[in-house]
Amino acid sequence: MNIAIILAGGTGTRMGMSLPKQYIEVMGKPVIAYCLERFVRHEQIDKLQIVAQKEWHGRIISCFAEDDIEWQDKFAGFSEPGANRQLSIWNGIKDIRSYAEDRDNVVIHDAARPLVSNAMISECLAMLKEHEGVMPALPMKDTVYLGREGRIVSLLDRSCVIAGQAPEAFVLGKYYQANQELMPDQILKINGSTEPAMMAGMDVVYLAGEETNFKITTKADLERFEQLLKQR
Ligand code: C5P
Repeated sequence: MNIAIILAGGTGTRMGMSLPKQYIEVMGKPVIAYCLERFVRHEQIDKLQIVAQKEWHGRIISCFAEDDIEWQDKFAGFSEPGANRQLSIWNGIKDIRSYAEDRDNVVIHDAARPLVSNAMISECLAMLKEHEGVMPALPMKDTVYLGREGRIVSLLDRSCVIAGQAPEAFVLGKYYQANQELMPDQILKINGSTEPAMMAGMDVVYLAGEETNFKITTKADLERFEQLLKQR
């Protein structure tokens, strides 16, 4: 079984908007609706676990209805957001374990990354047949340096530096254990969902990410997203 966790537990309003970015409406729908649609309609995704604050549950459910999506069979429930993204993931995987098995797969995606493609989800799942973890990544375009306190410390080999995207996919049981080892404090320092897998020595590979699968962080990202929707 393949279970998607959609992360919508962030409350940040860094963009200066009154709403968290995943709930801002673009072309008549909240940002989260675009990725929910992708995952619910993907034929290899069996269940959807959504991490979101209680006050947003009703709005999320109404997204399915507005898009005329058959969601009842796939929607498995909501999970409580954590103090950081990784704790939100932890809450999601703990809940998933009540209906899934260790050998099942979990596919973790950001609600704020609305343009994930069907092909990307399929490719992650295909590679997970041979590995314990998979992450899409983009090569670096700029020269990359290691800098500390305003000083260039060293030049990094650009060909070996990649920028991670989502969805990240893992074998559930192994990934659960990897996170459990970081509880309760170390998990607070985790930035990317592949980090716990790496720390636990899991076999994690990457595949070519997609430029359009960007995360909405700034107002410019939101405008770019709207432009791309208009071009479709
Ligand atoms: O804040 P950031 O851009 O890293 O958030 C990425 C995704 O993770 C967003 O969709 C956000 O809602 C989610 N998130 C979460 N729980 C948190 C922080 C972020 O589900 N505590």
